[in-house]
Amino acid sequence: MNKKLYIISNRLPVNIETVNGQVQVNVSSGGLISAVSSYLNYAGEKGSTGFDENIWIGTPCCSQAEWVQAKEGLVKSDFTYLPVFVNARLYNLYYNGFSNSVLWPLFHYFPSYAEYKIDYYESYSAANANFLDVVIRNAREGDTIWIHDYHLFPLAAMIREHLPSVTIGFFLHIPFPSYELFRLMPTQWQQGLLEGVLGTDLIGFHTIDYATHFLNCLQMVMGLGSENNIVTYKNRLVRVDVFPISIDFQKYHAAFSFKEVASLRSFYKQEFRDKKILFSVDRLDYTKGVFSRLKAYEWFLNLFPAYREKVVFIMVIVPSRDTIPKYAERKKEIDEFIGNINSRIGTITWKPVVYQYNQLSFEQLIALYTGCDLALITPLRDGMNLVAKEFVASRQDHKGVLLLSELTGAARELTDALLINPNDLDGLARKIKEGLEMSEAEQSRRLVRMQNRLIQYDVNTWAEDFFTQLANIKKRQTEFEFMFLGQDAKRLLYQDYHLASKRLLLLDYNGTLVPFSPLADQSEPGEEVLSLLANLSADQRNCIYLLSGRNSATLDNWFGLLRLNLVAGHGAKVKRHNEEWLVDRYIHQDDKWRELVMPVLDLSVKRCANTYIEEKEFSLVWHFSNAEPQQAKIRAGELYSELLQLTRNRNLQVVQGSYTVEVRNKGIGSGVLTRTLMSEKAYDFIMAFGDDSTDEEMFKELAGTPHAWTIKIGNEASYAKYNLYTPQMTLSLLNYLHTPV
Ligand code: UDP
Repeated sequence: MNKKLYIISNRLPVNIETVNGQVQVNVSSGGLISAVSSYLNYAGEKGSTGFDENIWIGTPCCSQAEWVQAKEGLVKSDFTYLPVFVNARLYNLYYNGFSNSVLWPLFHYFPSYAEYKIDYYESYSAANANFLDVVIRNAREGDTIWIHDYHLFPLAAMIREHLPSVTIGFFLHIPFPSYELFRLMPTQWQQGLLEGVLGTDLIGFHTIDYATHFLNCLQMVMGLGSENNIVTYKNRLVRVDVFPISIDFQKYHAAFSFKEVASLRSFYKQEFRDKKILFSVDRLDYTKGVFSRLKAYEWFLNLFPAYREKVVFIMVIVPSRDTIPKYAERKKEIDEFIGNINSRIGTITWKPVVYQYNQLSFEQLIALYTGCDLALITPLRDGMNLVAKEFVASRQDHKGVLLLSELTGAARELTDALLINPNDLDGLARKIKEGLEMSEAEQSRRLVRMQNRLIQYDVNTWAEDFFTQLANIKKRQTEFEFMFLGQDAKRLLYQDYHLASKRLLLLDYNGTLVPFSPLADQSEPGEEVLSLLANLSADQRNCIYLLSGRNSATLDNWFGLLRLNLVAGHGAKVKRHNEEWLVDRYIHQDDKWRELVMPVLDLSVKRCANTYIEEKEFSLVWHFSNAEPQQAKIRAGELYSELLQLTRNRNLQVVQGSYTVEVRNKGIGSGVLTRTLMSEKAYDFIMAFGDDSTDEEMFKELAGTPHAWTIKIGNEASYAKYNLYTPQMTLSLLNYLHTPV
């Protein structure tokens, strides 16, 4: 079967316009298309990308009639282009509205610029549905879909409904903000965005901070935890990972020596021959920190007047989104601001700022990158910032200084730049001086190191890394499904169960028969659990052990009337049916350790709100399921290591659960218990259910035993042979087994 790759972005990377009645078509050369094309060509040369056809889906910047005429001009491209037509009003509300007047400002930490209009969100969903129409008319299961950026958060979940097992990746090209910013949106919008993107298999961000913020939002908004960056949502694994986008290093590196670049460079240098050149280029955007940059430059000229007439700052602003009022206003303000600096500080023969509000050609851009002495890149926030990487790559001469805002994604990798907080105007002014005075040897040393990083992880590596991780998570999902106790396995289990005459059933309680409850005393068994246990235990062929961390009195209270064997305190005490509780012989009835441990736990409660201590017969437990997750995780780690130190050389165990840290007496473990029971009687059927790390010993013990069925509740890797997702599934399986043949 033909395997297709679909790239989906808001815009198709083609420019179509009618000039003098003729439709002209240009495939764009920048940004995402060069990244993806470069990878596909490179992977194609190495062997195969695994795709038979590459298709790009997005909105075209033209009418349907123009598209029909333009199509012929697109035939020879690397991609087949499929247009999504969104009507003009809807497009305005979706693109200028929700995407660029809610998500863009909020995700770049400009909350006061966000406008929460209801029709913005509705139009955003509606426009995404327009994309969906094109996808489902074309894509099939077996294809790979790569969705790009904040315009298309809801799309993956929409596609997933139609193509449940298609491979979908998502990459966010802007920052993902902390929960404190994200929560400013109405809750329904927060959920819509997160649920939408969870329709994917892999979600990529530029930096670990953005990925962490995203995972934290999942926890806070949807109560979804993650393990090793994998989230389980609607019975599927979704991986969250970091892929810092990069550039085609060779393209920018080689351009240094292009004839046209070299001659333009000489021209610029000649033009400003007795001056040091500072250079910046950005799209018109309030996130780029243009004002603070200009203010810092002015402050630099005031602090160090000897530099007057000895420097020039070439500032290029590329027009962008000027139909949005916030952007148009900004353009006017920048013009005025620069005019003011030039008239205040400049002279008849010296303009401190040389300003251009227009595109640069590739050659002009590289000539300025390679002709300047200092690149001044100071966004207030930027998902990555490719200009910084392009500057570094282009400096074949190993000269020039990069002064870079630490609030860009690029700063995470380009640590040899002069890094600066763009709001620190005095610091910025002083860094400009430091940069201008940096020795050539130091410039070279820093550039070489940064270039090595860019060579190591260039745009091909970026795309390759993404596709590799996408394939990996798909593989993980299949293994995971293989573990899942499906219909066929269930039928076999049923047969095995009904053929047996001496069955041993080992049932963990919390997290296995009842959901894990945030408050320990709220996990009392309901009617459904009690009647199921009553039914199972009434069958004389069953010998049932109920394993719990609860104390013996609680278990007596809950299950005392049933024909069950009870194990309390994680194996500290065992009570066979109709017998007395027996304390495990390894337990020392010395409770002095509690005085030692309690103050440490008390301190954790004080230092982490909404946590509490549970005192059990054989253990003390610190519970943190109701606390703020990030802080609690840190505190749990600290507490765990402190308790390990404190309990060394004592007959105690420190155990970290999902939302607990517990200190307990070392009693009989579930493994030893299982071995003991098996040695007492020849069972012809054994079934063990459990959900946490303490149950692993019993699964391990049973691995390879004939007629032993081990089932882990949850999706983590386990010694158990099979997985079920929830306690509810445990109950329905046990009910099914209990139905007569
Ligand atoms: N760029 C451009 N035209 C110009 C000047 C620059 O297309 O006249 C390119 C530049 O080479 C870079 C991109 O625009 O690849 C800007 O990317 P960046 O990540 O720095 O910022 P963004 O504009 O995506 O916020």
